[in-house]
Amino acid sequence: MTTDIQAEVFTGNFTQQEPLPQAAVDAAMAVLNHGRLHRYNEAPDEVAEAAALEVEFAEMMGAKYCLGVASGGYALATALRALGVKPGDNVLTNAFTLAPVPGSIAAVGAVPIFVGVTQDLVIDLDDLAAKASQANVLMLSHMRGHIVDMDKLMAVARAHGLQVVEDCAHTMGAKWAHTWSGRFGAIGCYSTQTYKHVNSGEGGLLVTDDEDLMAKATMLSGSYMLYGKHRAGAGDQAFEDVRLSTPNISGRMDNLRAAILRPQLADLSRQCARWNERYAAVDAGLAETPGLTRISRPEQEKFVASSHQFLLLDWPDDAIRSVVDRCLARGVELKWFGAPDPVGFTSRYSSWTYAPSQPMPTSDRVLRAVMDMRLPLTFSLEDCHQIARIIRAEVGAAFQNL
Ligand SMILES: *Cc1c(COP(=O)(O)O)cnc(C)c1O
Repeated sequence: MTTDIQAEVFTGNFTQQEPLPQAAVDAAMAVLNHGRLHRYNEAPDEVAEAAALEVEFAEMMGAKYCLGVASGGYALATALRALGVKPGDNVLTNAFTLAPVPGSIAAVGAVPIFVGVTQDLVIDLDDLAAKASQANVLMLSHMRGHIVDMDKLMAVARAHGLQVVEDCAHTMGAKWAHTWSGRFGAIGCYSTQTYKHVNSGEGGLLVTDDEDLMAKATMLSGSYMLYGKHRAGAGDQAFEDVRLSTPNISGRMDNLRAAILRPQLADLSRQCARWNERYAAVDAGLAETPGLTRISRPEQEKFVASSHQFLLLDWPDDAIRSVVDRCLARGVELKWFGAPDPVGFTSRYSSWTYAPSQPMPTSDRVLRAVMDMRLPLTFSLEDCHQIARIIRAEVGAAFQNL
């Protein structure tokens, strides 16, 4: 029996998402057939797919305004520009995040100030309070879907006069207590890239209740003087002060992507539940594995787990590398976030050498330990049980030899 379990190999693909639903394919064909892919190219009496998508997402999120854009990273940079972040300004952000986040800060010529990460993989609120006076804006990344206590975070932000932009690339459909992720800060930003919770290849969404911010974001996205076509946009009067003074930094959503996103948004909550079933299967399968630390998540965190993380705290580099190699040999692709050199999508703050940073020993200990894997919906629950068995066996064996 033991030998059987040790021999098993997983054959699924960690980067294969589900095909798009038929409704999305049909909607795409309709757009391709009429050819009006540009969002402002509307037939008489037609509501463009991009405008309709914005209305639907604003309604879902209970937001006054929504803007579709070309990518999640574009949404983040647009949020900073709309908030008036200038070249040379500091912007606080998570040390544990992915490259597009500090990249969006660099895109506006600003300087990321990294805030530490806790063992629960959320932003360290004590470190945030300690660094808060250095900036006016916090770009908060809900990295890998881990949501910090948002009541406490917003209290720190209010106490220090910080404006908050939420990076919800991994939390579309998630909540803290009863409030959607993306609805705490001044602006919430989402990605619709293939590996996120809805898939249009590339794309982004931005929501806010602030009409002036939305007017600026809309002008920035490249709306020329056609902003009147937006259906979840700012009113005409909000554009009066900004229509001539705001540069056009083109990054619009188009009707083809919007068309394939609308049916996916309608199905989002069902998909989120399916991700969480897969997460629960993996997480339960890893319980009480010697040497492995699971991430504890509070009751109020209504997460959407499209990926799974665990920690190999204080393991030597060689031993971690050997777990990664042995799991890979058995078909399980673990990403080691703390690898000394970034591989694939992994990265840590010290590898973004355009941004100055001081070592953060407590965070470094956690980052070195983070193991990460995607859980695409093409995995069955049985796949997830098998993945957990393989990791459990390999981590357990390596731990014995430490
Ligand atoms: C994917 C991602 C983004 C934005 O991504 P785009 O690829 O620009 O759409 C932002 N933050 C995080 C943490 C991400 O993973």
